[in-house]
Amino acid sequence: MNYPDYHTHVARCGHASGTAADMVAAARAANLAGIGISDHLPLLPRPDADVTMRPGELEAYVAEVLALKESHPGFVLLGIEADYFRAGAGEIERLLQSHPFDYVIGSVHYLDSWGFDNSKNVAGFEERDIDEIYRCYYELLGDAAESGLFTIIGHLDLVKKWGHRSRTGLAAELDRLMARLRRTQVLVEINTAGLRKPVKEIYPQLDLLRRARAAGLGITFGSDAHQPEEVGWEFAAAGKLAREAGFSSHAVLRPAAGPGRAAIAYEAL
Ligand code: ZN
Ligand code: FE
Ligand code: FE
Ligand code: ZN
Repeated sequence: MNYPDYHTHVARCGHASGTAADMVAAARAANLAGIGISDHLPLLPRPDADVTMRPGELEAYVAEVLALKESHPGFVLLGIEADYFRAGAGEIERLLQSHPFDYVIGSVHYLDSWGFDNSKNVAGFEERDIDEIYRCYYELLGDAAESGLFTIIGHLDLVKKWGHRSRTGLAAELDRLMARLRRTQVLVEINTAGLRKPVKEIYPQLDLLRRARAAGLGITFGSDAHQPEEVGWEFAAAGKLAREAGFSSHAVLRPAAGPGRAAIAYEAL
């Protein structure tokens, strides 16, 4: 319940409030086991100042979080949430390699240049077949995992955010996705932000989580907080869902002593 929160944003991205220090203070106040700051990496299929920090801000972001990591040893981690898009994989890798991130969340918020999770673009759901949307989305998530760039795959069924459900359930596509995730040993997150969105449901939903469990994947917890009040949001419900899906442990990230990504350990739920 006081799981570390590995998915949090700061005001730099243009659609959140609070500094990294505010987020850390909120995590302390909520008695969480730790916090990772994971603001949006400034690289998108279609650049948008309301969606990520500006490229020139990345250095200051890294320095700000590293200072907190130093003053809160063992409590704060430097993360980032990166949008995965095929054409940008090389550039994403370059940006990730030139900074000492403890972990990276790989997320898909765009199908080609359609930012489907942005409220400005919801009409796009009426212009496409919903199962085709889900199919493209899952395919891209599998590509993201196989890119090897990411520690965690973010919000596995984000496409449902506005309440659009697959017509057929897409069991074969989900089997394929889980097999791909399993081969890469990427972690998946239980992200409580969905509870604050029209879908009113945690990402991913129970049946996907059961599949993740059957595939032997590890889980982390993330609130996707965009303001300090949301840090650790509904983690009791997240833990309950994890147990319901058959999990008995969750992954925790232990920062490496030298350069390189954090090591993964497991703790009882
Ligand atoms: Zn955001
Ligand atoms: Fe996201
Ligand atoms: Fe996020
Ligand atoms: Zn997110």
